[in-house]
Amino acid sequence: MTSQTNPFLELAAPGIRELKPYLPGKPLSELERELGISHSIKLASNENPLGVSPKVIEAITRSYSELARYPDGGGFQLRQSLAEKHAVDPSCITLGNGSNDVLDMVARVFLAPGMETLFSQYCFAVYPISSQAVGAKLVIAPANAYGHDLDRMLQMITPRTRVIWIANPNNPTGTWLNKDELNAFLVKVPEHVIVVLDEAYIEYVQESDYPDGTQWLDVFPNVIVTRTFSKAYGLASLRIGYGLSSSTIADLLNRVRQPFNVNSLAQVAAQAALEDQAFIQRSVMINSAGMQQYVHEFEAVGLNYIPSVANFITVDLGQAALPVDQALLQEGCITRPIANYGLPNHLRISIGLEEENVRLLTTLKKVLKR
Ligand SMILES: *Cc1c(COP(=O)(O)O)cnc(C)c1O
Repeated sequence: MTSQTNPFLELAAPGIRELKPYLPGKPLSELERELGISHSIKLASNENPLGVSPKVIEAITRSYSELARYPDGGGFQLRQSLAEKHAVDPSCITLGNGSNDVLDMVARVFLAPGMETLFSQYCFAVYPISSQAVGAKLVIAPANAYGHDLDRMLQMITPRTRVIWIANPNNPTGTWLNKDELNAFLVKVPEHVIVVLDEAYIEYVQESDYPDGTQWLDVFPNVIVTRTFSKAYGLASLRIGYGLSSSTIADLLNRVRQPFNVNSLAQVAAQAALEDQAFIQRSVMINSAGMQQYVHEFEAVGLNYIPSVANFITVDLGQAALPVDQALLQEGCITRPIANYGLPNHLRISIGLEEENVRLLTTLKKVLKR
């Protein structure tokens, strides 16, 4: 149904009328059926190519018997573990059905019509969607070398600004901000502005001056840090993430949180995943090696790429990416064109297992030669 023919459009809240739905990548099975192919590889959604820790499978299997019961709505045990991990009080933690859920709570708590929200060009798609849905005015700061221009962002703060969103590292560009840059920024942000530091990829970052945002929670009470189990921990399908903030902000977020937003399997899986840090180390090593494969190959063939510290790399094909993506799909390689982010010539590729990376790179070179 197009918007012109939707008779309920006028009834929808103003922000919703303008909203375009998030376009997720197609599931592997669906795509294979459509194209009549098999043995395809999916390097499109920044998932962990190793899967999950065996400890997670064990924990989930043990908890099947409780499926008929509502989950622990307060997430008591998991919040306890996370509080220990981050050396904060459990009251500082807000559990989400994925960290996107927490981002959405932030928008609902702090944004409304008449207020402004600020983010960077090429930012993660969820920030504008959640902000638009509650009717806030979206203010977009032009990027600098595909990354955040923090000085520019500071200049764009007004008395109506309520939330600034920063993914560090950023998706879909893989760019990142160091500790000094972010600290200098946070010092200058007025107290009436909430700063969300989205650290979905923190486990992968190796740079020594990359900051863990939780260090600022005591210094800047307006900071909210979000983390997820969807990426390095490999729990994307279970939907679990969390916010770290002052307990006063967490109190507000929990007022809008759905009572049973995080299911029992997700809670026990996250708990078990936290306990297997060796799995995270393996994942990070495989990612670093895979990143080297891509960087090496892109340099060898003269393709420009955006240097990334996450588990994906965004490459400039120097031509429209969509036809290349279609050709890759025909060969069973699923990647992510990001024209919807304003980067029509770029392709975002998640780092896979060594053999997946080799197959993608070989296929990409073949397709580009045609
Ligand atoms: C993948 C990603 C997330 C994680 O979302 P979940 O809802 O936790 O799966 C959050 N922020 C960014 C920037 C991401 O790329």
